[in-house]
Amino acid sequence: MYRLKVSSLTLIMITLMASCSKSQENNKSIVKESKGKIVKTEEEWKKILTPEAYNVLREKGTETAFTGKYWDNHEQGTYYCAACHLKLFSSKTKFKSGTGWPSFYEPINEENIAINKDTTFGMVREEVVCARCGGHLGHVFDDGPEPTGLRYCLNSVSLSFEKD
Ligand SMILES: [Zn+2]
Repeated sequence: MYRLKVSSLTLIMITLMASCSKSQENNKSIVKESKGKIVKTEEEWKKILTPEAYNVLREKGTETAFTGKYWDNHEQGTYYCAACHLKLFSSKTKFKSGTGWPSFYEPINEENIAINKDTTFGMVREEVVCARCGGHLGHVFDDGPEPTGLRYCLNSVSLSFEKD
C-alpha cells in the first residue's frame, strides 16, 4: 500500500515536470517568432554588406546628400531594409523633401522600425532603426507633410527598393 502511494506520487511529479518543461519550450518559440530579431556579429555584417552600407547601417554614418540611389526615385514600389529585407516604407508615402535623401511621411508598419534618441553632433535627434536587425536607417523630424507631419529622412544605402 505504502509503495503504491510513493510510485503514484512519483508518476504525478514526473507528469507535472514534463508538462512544465513542455510549456516552457512553447513559450520560448513564441517569443522567438514574435520578436524575430536578427543578431549578427560585426564581422558577419561586414561580410554581407558593402563597405558603404556597413558604414551607414552598422556605424550610423550618413551618405552625402544627392548621391544616393533613391532620393530622386519616383517609381512605385516598396523599400526594404538593405540588411535584413524587412518591409519598411512604401513609395506611396515618399515625398519630395529637397534634402537629397529619400524622405517618407509614414512607415508601412510602425512595428518594423524603432526610434532611438541620438545626441551626437550636439543635436538631439530621433534616430530611425530597423526593428529586426537594428540597422541605422536615418532620422525622423517633425517638419513633414500631412497627414503625419513627420519626415523620415533616410539613407538610400540602408534601403533596397523593389518595383510593384
Ligand atoms: Zn533590418
